[in-house]
Amino acid sequence: MLRAAKVGGVFAIALGLMGGCGDGGFLISTRQEIEIGQNVDRQLVSQHGLSRDRRAVARVERIGAAMADQARRTSISYQFRVLATADVNAFAAPGGFVYLTEGIIDFLGSDDDALACLTAHEIGHIDQRHSVEQLERRLGAQTLIQILVGGKKGADIANTAAGLVMLQHSRADELEADRIGVRYAARGGYDPWGMVRFFEKLRQKEGQGPSRLETYFRTHPRTQDRIKRITAYIREHEGGG
Ligand SMILES: [Zn+2]
Repeated sequence: MLRAAKVGGVFAIALGLMGGCGDGGFLISTRQEIEIGQNVDRQLVSQHGLSRDRRAVARVERIGAAMADQARRTSISYQFRVLATADVNAFAAPGGFVYLTEGIIDFLGSDDDALACLTAHEIGHIDQRHSVEQLERRLGAQTLIQILVGGKKGADIANTAAGLVMLQHSRADELEADRIGVRYAARGGYDPWGMVRFFEKLRQKEGQGPSRLETYFRTHPRTQDRIKRITAYIREHEGGG
């Protein structure tokens, strides 16, 4: 799994170093980031398959496009995919790829505002280049140099890079993506409190033992903390109450 992503990731990183600094102080340029994302995307789609629920796909694409209009990075073209799995999850790959599972769409029900907030949260990770930053930091300068001088086997480096692309985000990055999520939702005409409704729903399931939400809980900060912080943020910045 993720073999193409591994190869793509390393190739991109090596190019990044040779080409000097990428965008905004990053070694990996936007173009290279998109290449990494495309490789990850191919793997994810072949692993899970795309949803055949045309209504759900159209809904996600419509809401996703409204949220992408709010995004900061204009050099990225956002793409929204519904993966055919009952696992309740949402995530982003570098370069503009946003994924929602059939499971999370089912979990959210008809709440378009919550769907908008959640989609914008994922866009926020890409907008802030959270994965790229993490990838560069984890690999470190030494590894990046080793790629260039060939002192370390290409395959080893590739394994490291690919594993890191889809790693969980730090707590700080998650909370930042939450804030971006409600901000973009509000600016795009959706109710930012949809985020809180989603979290409240999550909280009811938290700590109830194994479920289809397991991966979600494992990779995200405690829901109670997110509710507290995002409630304060919405009251301060987005109005409403
Ligand atoms: Zn996140």
